[in-house]
Amino acid sequence: MHQIILHPQREKSLLRHHPWIFSKAVAYADKDIKPGELVKVLNSDKTFIAQGHFSPHSQIRVRVISFNEKDVIDKIFIKNRIQAAVNLRQRLIDAGNDGVRIVAAEGDFLPGLIIDKYNNYLSISISSYGMENLRNEIITSLQEIFPTCSIYERSDTASRLKEGLKERCGVITGELPPDILYVREGNSVFIPIDIKNGHKTGGYLDQRKSRIRVGELSKGCKVLNCFSYTGGFGLWALKGGAIRVENVDISAHALDLAKQGVVFNHLDPGRCRFIREDVFKFLRDKVEAGEQYDLVILDPPKFIDGTSNLKKGCRGYQDINRLGLLLTKKGGRLLTFSCSGLMDLNLFQKIVADAALDAKVNAQLLNVLRQDEDHVIALPCPESFYLKGLEVAVN
Ligand code: SAH
Repeated sequence: MHQIILHPQREKSLLRHHPWIFSKAVAYADKDIKPGELVKVLNSDKTFIAQGHFSPHSQIRVRVISFNEKDVIDKIFIKNRIQAAVNLRQRLIDAGNDGVRIVAAEGDFLPGLIIDKYNNYLSISISSYGMENLRNEIITSLQEIFPTCSIYERSDTASRLKEGLKERCGVITGELPPDILYVREGNSVFIPIDIKNGHKTGGYLDQRKSRIRVGELSKGCKVLNCFSYTGGFGLWALKGGAIRVENVDISAHALDLAKQGVVFNHLDPGRCRFIREDVFKFLRDKVEAGEQYDLVILDPPKFIDGTSNLKKGCRGYQDINRLGLLLTKKGGRLLTFSCSGLMDLNLFQKIVADAALDAKVNAQLLNVLRQDEDHVIALPCPESFYLKGLEVAVN
C-alpha cells in the first residue's frame, strides 16, 4: 500500500480522529498514487495513524476510512458499515418516518457517501474518488440489505466536481422514481420529494425534527415559511392548525410540488399561498407594508461555502434575521436556521442577537434546533454539525 507522511505540526487533528487530511498537512506522499487509492497515513515518526482514500485534486487530500491498521477495506467492510448505519436509524423508521438518511458520510465513517431512503427508493450520492472506486461494493451491499428497493444515483454535488469526477445521475437498479413521491414523516404528514430533479438526493430530510416542531407551534397562527422548497414546514403548520400559511421560494418547480402536497395531505389549499419571489425582496416589502406574523420560519440555502465569503455570508444572515424579527408579532416566534458548516452555533447566536438589536426587538432564545439524528455528526469533525437553528420568542 502506498504511504503518506504527515507534517509534525499538522498531525494533532488526525490523532483526535478527525477524518480529513488537508494537502498542507502532507509532508511526503509516494509517487504514482492513483485517485481514490487506499493509502497508509503515517505520523511524522512513521507510526501508523490511519488508512484513507487519496484525492489528488481536492484540498482534502485524504479522507480517512479507518483508524485500524488491520481493517481490510472490501465488500464485507463496506456492507458492515452500511448495516451498522441502518441499525442506528431503526428508531426513526419505527416512529413512522419513511424518508431517512441511511448513511451520512463522515458521521457513519464513510466519507464521500450519502444514502437516503425514500419509501422503496434509495437515492445515493458519491462525492469522492475513494467511494467512486467502491461503487460496486456499495451497490451490491445495498441490494443485499434492501432487496426490494430500487436504487437511483444522484452523484451531482459540487464537491464531486472539485474531486475531478464527472456527474452521474440515473437508475442503477429497479424502477425509475416517479415525478413526485410522497414520503411519510412523523407518522402523519406526507412530504413531496422529487428524487430525479429535486435538491440534494431529492429533498431535505435534515429538517424533519424542526418541521415536526412547527406542527406543535402553529395552532391558530398566521405563518410565514421563507425558503419553503416543497413546503414541508408549511404542511406541518397546516396540520398543526395554522389559520394561514405563506410559502415563499424562488423555485417554481418546488412551489408546484408544495401545492400538490397540500392536496395530497387533505389539507385546505384555501389557507395557504405559494409565492414565487426573492425572499430578501419579499421580506423588505412586507416590513414596509407593516405586515406581521405569529410564526416566521427562515431556512435559507448555505450563505457561506468557504472561508473567503464568511463575512459576506454573516451579513446575509444578519439581514434576513433582522427582517424576520421585524415581521414577527409581539408574543410570536421566529425559527431561524443556518446550514453553513463553517458557522458554528455560537456565531449564529451572536448574529441573531445582533439582528434583534438592529430590529430593536426583545428576543429570547427558547430552543436550540439542529439537523435530525439520522444526519449523524462525526464527534471529532465539527464541520459535520452543519445545520443549526434557534427558536426565538419576540417580545
Ligand atoms: N425548508 C425547506 C428547505 C429549504 S432549502 C424544507 O424543509 O424542505 C432552500 C430553498 O431556498 C430552496 O428551495 C431554494 O429554491 C430557495 N432559495 C434560494 N435562494 C432564494 C431566494 N433568494 N429567495 C427565495 N428562495 C430562495
